Amino acid sequence: MSYSAGAAWMEGKVIPVSEAKISVFDWGLTRSDITYDVVHVWEGAFFRLEDYLDRFMISMDKLRLDVGMDRAEIKAALVELVATSGLNSAYVSMVASRGTPQIAGTRDPRACTNHFYAWAVPFIWVIPQEVAQRGVHISVEENLRRIPPHSVDPTVKNYHWGDMTAALFNALDAGYDTTVLRDTDGYITEGPGFNIFAVIDGKVLTPRSGMLEGISRKTVLEICVDLGIPCAETDISLDEFLSADEIFTATTAGGPVPVTRVNTTILGNDTAGPLTAQILQTYWDWHNRADLIEKVPYV
Ligand SMILES: *Cc1c(COP(=O)(O)O)cnc(C)c1O
Repeated sequence: MSYSAGAAWMEGKVIPVSEAKISVFDWGLTRSDITYDVVHVWEGAFFRLEDYLDRFMISMDKLRLDVGMDRAEIKAALVELVATSGLNSAYVSMVASRGTPQIAGTRDPRACTNHFYAWAVPFIWVIPQEVAQRGVHISVEENLRRIPPHSVDPTVKNYHWGDMTAALFNALDAGYDTTVLRDTDGYITEGPGFNIFAVIDGKVLTPRSGMLEGISRKTVLEICVDLGIPCAETDISLDEFLSADEIFTATTAGGPVPVTRVNTTILGNDTAGPLTAQILQTYWDWHNRADLIEKVPYV
């Protein structure tokens, strides 16, 4: 069996990812009633797997999803999936879905059989590497606002992407690579699948609320502490953001990536800023830290 395009773990079996499917009745699909998490495998080892599992377990709890597997079983499924796939560097998605109700047409979420599945594909760069090299050009979405936290909890990684997809269309139409959204008070939140950082007066700032608390974000903040770079989680207004000295994104699927243009502003001579470069380098260096990685037992 070749899993070079990826593999999935479904109902206890590892299968080619192209054969993985869920029911059209699944509330994960019809209601976005689902949570997921994405961990990466880099050169044969999971990075911070326990942190991703922590977040995934909390997310399932918050949504009252019970997939009938405990943390150890979920971890074992992920390890088996990647080990069987043979993928050396991978994007590994774990999913918990509400599932299909036993009573057709019911609105009662308790009638659904929740389920877990996972899939792994060759490592994905949310921002393509050539764009990351050149520096990302982002817009701040003008009109649409990020779904408010009191409507959908953004700390639970989710498939409610209506706001972000619409904002992406606006950004791509206007010639940008991607976009960031503000909250209903006008503060910067995040972009489609990444957290955002602004360097202002030598300090690395990132939004404190209204966004997913990314593991890459956590890593960046730890790197700042380690390197002695001042950092803070705080509200960032549009004006502050547009006047930043450096901006960068961070996500599991690609790590920190420099932003060189925001709206009509060109940052740092159109190249990555010095703090961004230092943080980016350290992020990848940390993939050799024994306390943060877990080797995949390939079969
Ligand atoms: C996954 C994701 C991020 C980045 O989180 P990481 O844990 O660093 O990958 C940021 N925002 C959203 C909306 C996401 O889905």
